[in-house]
Amino acid sequence: MKTITLYEQDAFAREFSAKVISCEEAIIDEKKLYKVVLDQTMFFPEQGGQTSDIGTLDSVRVIDVQIENETIYHFCTAGFLSGEIVHGVIDWNYRFGNMQQHTGEHLFTGIAHNRYGADNVGFHLSDNTVTLDLNIELSEEQVREIELEVNRAIGKNLGVKAYYPEPALLQSIDYRSKKEIIGAVRLVEIEGIDICACCAPHVKTTGQVGMLKVVSFGKYKGGTRIYILCGIRALEDYNRRMDILAKSYQALNCREEELPEKINGLLDENKSLKYNICEIKTNMLMDQIEKYPSDIVDVTIFTEGLDIKNMRDGVNALVERHTGLCAIFSGNDEDGYDFVIGSTTRDCSAIATGMRELLGAKGGGSKQMAQGNVNATRNTIENTL
Ligand SMILES: [Zn+2]
Repeated sequence: MKTITLYEQDAFAREFSAKVISCEEAIIDEKKLYKVVLDQTMFFPEQGGQTSDIGTLDSVRVIDVQIENETIYHFCTAGFLSGEIVHGVIDWNYRFGNMQQHTGEHLFTGIAHNRYGADNVGFHLSDNTVTLDLNIELSEEQVREIELEVNRAIGKNLGVKAYYPEPALLQSIDYRSKKEIIGAVRLVEIEGIDICACCAPHVKTTGQVGMLKVVSFGKYKGGTRIYILCGIRALEDYNRRMDILAKSYQALNCREEELPEKINGLLDENKSLKYNICEIKTNMLMDQIEKYPSDIVDVTIFTEGLDIKNMRDGVNALVERHTGLCAIFSGNDEDGYDFVIGSTTRDCSAIATGMRELLGAKGGGSKQMAQGNVNATRNTIENTL
């Protein structure tokens, strides 16, 4: 049975009455819901990349709406009797937000089409993300130019209308469409800018979009994927970003415009501190190495916080003074150890192989030097060596 689609007749109507045609239980994600068919509905079902309206039927929540062969199914948290008359109310803030995003998307793709011949090959509209995919690569400059043009069109408050043209008239209209449409074609026309086949509710004038902001974009399947936000959702995103900025410049005790310079300064400082620490650690390691009497054959040092370069330098210094196996392990019993081993007389590669086999260590190397890491305690390592 074809459900009468009230949302197509008036996108700004929020309440309606309808007769329950059928109601059956449905288990969705292990939750018991009721799948309700009405003779008519104002709930826009999920289609064309846009999530469904939500709202209530009497006081029962409608959490999802799907369409299948022109029948619309309302997924509700309680059931109804067939023949019952119910009062439906759609969540207006949510719906209006979706209409702002959707008309904004038509504006963006319409202008991208007019200026650069871009075709829209994908669209996704959910609670907090709106993406549109274009089949050509756009530069940052081009994206910004389209964004500005969209906002100018919003300022002009152009008319937006949705209609089903007569088949004969449709032949003569140049409209955009993502796919071949079977049956009646519904067009959404933005005065002087765009005509596009679309089934969704739209705002009445471009001014109602409020604003459009491109929040990010990038190459996608040989074209461009663009993330946009319109109206209140753009404002909310703006507030969220301002909050992040404020927390950042307050933490760094600087003005907003000084942030990039401040961060770069900190990164440089961090780099030079790391370098200094590395030098200090190497010096400490060398001091420790010099304290071992040179008549000791094998030397194994357990320490913490050294990088591989420190360890290699250390092992190189050790093998000059000791003839046996020279090893440095850096780490702790809990997280495991990085190691470098070296020797002028022993086969380090074979020792590394032994550690792989006996301790599940990773790594390897040459006869003279090997390195890797091992997840074992100091005690186990010492016994195994
Ligand atoms: Zn559309």
